[in-house]
Amino acid sequence: MKSGTFENELTVQTHQQKGTTEEFHQAYEAAVETVRDELGGEYPLWISGQPVETDDTFTVTNPGDFDQVIGEFSSGEPTHVDQAVEAASGAFDDWRNTSWEKRAEIFQQAADNIRDRKYELTATMALENGKNRGEAIAEVDEAIDFLQFYSQELERNNGYTFDRGEPTPNQHCTNELLPYGVFGVVTPFNFPLAILAGMTTGAVITGNTAVVKPASTTPLIAHKFIEILNEAGIPDGVVNLVTGGGSSVGQPLIEHEDVVGFAFTGSRRVGLTIQETFQEMGKRGPVVAELGGKNPVIVSDTADLSKAVSGVKLGAFSFSGQKCSATSRVYVHEDVIDSFTERLVEETTELPIGVPENEDTVVSPLIDDSALDRYHKICDLARQDGKVHTGGEQLTDPELPEGRYVQPTVVTDVPHDHELATEEHFLPFVTIHPVSSLDEAITKANDSDYALCAGLFSENQEEIDVWFDRIESGMCYVNRSQSATTGALVHAQPFGGWKFSGTTGKFAGGYWYLPQFMRQQSRTVVGDVGNQ
Ligand code: NDP
Repeated sequence: MKSGTFENELTVQTHQQKGTTEEFHQAYEAAVETVRDELGGEYPLWISGQPVETDDTFTVTNPGDFDQVIGEFSSGEPTHVDQAVEAASGAFDDWRNTSWEKRAEIFQQAADNIRDRKYELTATMALENGKNRGEAIAEVDEAIDFLQFYSQELERNNGYTFDRGEPTPNQHCTNELLPYGVFGVVTPFNFPLAILAGMTTGAVITGNTAVVKPASTTPLIAHKFIEILNEAGIPDGVVNLVTGGGSSVGQPLIEHEDVVGFAFTGSRRVGLTIQETFQEMGKRGPVVAELGGKNPVIVSDTADLSKAVSGVKLGAFSFSGQKCSATSRVYVHEDVIDSFTERLVEETTELPIGVPENEDTVVSPLIDDSALDRYHKICDLARQDGKVHTGGEQLTDPELPEGRYVQPTVVTDVPHDHELATEEHFLPFVTIHPVSSLDEAITKANDSDYALCAGLFSENQEEIDVWFDRIESGMCYVNRSQSATTGALVHAQPFGGWKFSGTTGKFAGGYWYLPQFMRQQSRTVVGDVGNQ
């Protein structure tokens, strides 16, 4: 196993350093063609190492090209959840007694398998969830990092077994972190590989078993991940995949009495339902949930406006703002707000909108019709209650295939407490607000139920110190022109939120993530024990 210092997988940067960027693009483009040719298959559930067919199926289409069918997927029902939980329960004893070295080895092998298929997976994402090229390869890198890092963490912590020796004579004590049992893992569409791989690995590498339900819009990449785990040697029943809807699969999974813990990433509504259901049912296991965001950026009058405009534009609009970390409200000092807004609007109108697999696309299509409806509704509201400087319309470009392409939208003149500036939209939509001081800006930035990501643009160290001291946010970025609030590297920038943005305060890709999936046992043996 690779051990010692953790190294991130940085595909694009590595190619740039070696001067082989063109090779990267060629490999990606070839993979898009191969994956496109393979689309349209039929995919069963995967329970106890076996395919399971269902009576009903659902069709997934490419959000950027409705003519392209991604595949036909089995639609799970509560009985399939029962079947999968039974399989996971049955596999639990053997798996928890499998040495931590073996568990780490399997996930290390899976990381290698993802690396071998990185272009295929990146291309799959472009076609299935519309993620643009740069974002998609970064997500595949992140998935590799999660598996690699968690494997290393198991090793660094000696499988979370600590021998305390003899604190008093003749009394030998060890401390262990042990798995709970069966975890439900429910994942969102927007990071369909990294989040699915990260949460599943967190639950399972620590000795639990799992039933995984991916978002209904992104089941293909979930199937590919299960295939990768199988090829890496995960025993049957340890990870089971049940595709299907939130109410027919997700809810029964939450309510299943043998599901003792839950890993979830998605909306606040569903995340809180899981917590409430666990409480009502008296379940004692953890709910490790990463939820939404309404991420604020502050632009001080000392800011370098080029950095600020670039950071806000990319933070708000790349992948059409469909990220929990997307920049969504910007508090700009009144002395620079006109110039900032003018430049942001100008650069936003130049952003390439298009099919995700194109090299230069930044603003890619929206995932589904409900996102498109939300887009129209909030843009109408913005026109009514504020001022839309650019955007607000769906694209009807005859050059584009039929898909959900919309314009990135910049809005001013809505109050800070307006629903457009307080609710998460998950769309390419940003509101700009004037402030007269850093103090006012921080107070407004913190005035939210969410606290996931936050950004500051300032060239003044004192302002930066004050901001770090007062900002309520899990992830904090200063002067980040490549994106004001999005993007995180495993190990260096563990990812998670405070307040209603997360339930545990311990972040994915960080040192304290894995222990959340285990409970402690202290073991004491007095005297020498023979073998009678
Ligand atoms: P949803 O909460 O709608 O869906 C997430 C998952 O939950 C999907 O698999 C969905 O299934 C499932 N689900 C829906 N209803 C239920 C239910 N009643 N019981 C159980 N499961 C259910 O979120 P989105 O997929 O739309 O993702 C966007 C949200 O995720 C945003 O709020 C975003 O901020 C958050 N997010 C947070 C991240 C973080 O790290 N903090 C990272 C990424 C996203 P189905 O698809 O079948 O409806």
